[in-house]
Amino acid sequence: MSHTPPPPEGLLAELTHRCPLACPYCSNPVALDAPRAEMSTDDWKRIFSEAAEMGVLHLHLSGGEPCSRRDLAELTAHAVEAGLYTNLITSGVGLTRELFDRLVAAGLDHLQLSIQGVDAPQADWIGGYKGGYAKKREVAAWVTAEGLPLTVNAVIHRGNVEDAPRMVDLAVELGARRVEIAHTQYYGWALKNRAKLMPTREQSDRAYAAVEARRAHYLGQVVIDHVAPDYHARFPKACMSGWGRQTLNVSPSGKVLPCHSAEIIPGLEFWNAREKPLAEIWAHSPAFEAFRGFDWMQEPCRSCERKGQDFGGCRCQAMALLGDASACDPACTKSPHHGLVNEIAARDSEGPVEGFAPRRYARQEEIPTPA
Ligand code: SF4
Ligand code: SF4
Repeated sequence: MSHTPPPPEGLLAELTHRCPLACPYCSNPVALDAPRAEMSTDDWKRIFSEAAEMGVLHLHLSGGEPCSRRDLAELTAHAVEAGLYTNLITSGVGLTRELFDRLVAAGLDHLQLSIQGVDAPQADWIGGYKGGYAKKREVAAWVTAEGLPLTVNAVIHRGNVEDAPRMVDLAVELGARRVEIAHTQYYGWALKNRAKLMPTREQSDRAYAAVEARRAHYLGQVVIDHVAPDYHARFPKACMSGWGRQTLNVSPSGKVLPCHSAEIIPGLEFWNAREKPLAEIWAHSPAFEAFRGFDWMQEPCRSCERKGQDFGGCRCQAMALLGDASACDPACTKSPHHGLVNEIAARDSEGPVEGFAPRRYARQEEIPTPA
């Protein structure tokens, strides 16, 4: 693609990979960026200014756990001054009342709170953090009392799939205006733990239908965003709304990525925001150019009537499952390799849930299931 692409709408800033939780479905890379590799406050401020100048509207302050950064309020204030709509994506753990007040004073626009389960034993087991569930309830109360819009998001897997509709109920109880129920996407730590996380097709179908039924029940009360289970769907998701089309990710160390897991694709050249202007990276980085538009597509995507809707699915999934990032996402029923997805889904949905590798920097230990 030779022409300059329209500017992105959103920037996901992975401020740090540090996180007190250890969710086995975490989409962060298995090779986490070390704290010493993180960018400085000034680096991030410059990136946020550049993003606003190039037309970015939404800034998602994420991680890891962004509250692990001591400069979070300062960064938020800078982003607000630059004209960005700021969304804090947090587990709530690590967010003190004092930091929350400073974020509100800085002009934070929105908070997205993750929940791991519908009660303390389930949530604290999955997140690997005792007391996490209680903390989330406390944070949700601060947010709604402040009048800040709250989104609650929950990731669904074999360990909590039967409770998917109750996640919606909990989000409503917490005062969320929007709830995102996302069936696990198998990247990073989730891919590593796939055999412990995959629900059966019956479980997925039942959970999906039950959450959909909540839409009518809560109509006008809460918006439900529902991310379908990849391995049990008919067509793939429009990953990142198309590669290099609407959003970019910046890693803790400054690598600018078309999506959070793009580093699993060998041979892609990622430019670093410490070294080049963000606008130049967006327009000309080889990694962004690799799968923009439709020219890179193979059949059946190239001649498919849905290619403008789902953009051939996910490049990282094609890489992870087929070893070919430009192949049709095998999650698609039109892919000649779709049978592989069915085989993996059936195989990985058997067996016990316990024993997953918790997302950690150091040695991975098994977390026992709750009694
Ligand atoms: S998914 Fe869990 S472990 Fe990963 S960053 Fe979020 S809270 Fe931390
Ligand atoms: S063949 Fe490709 S473009 Fe068509 S639906 Fe499947 S993934 Fe999408």
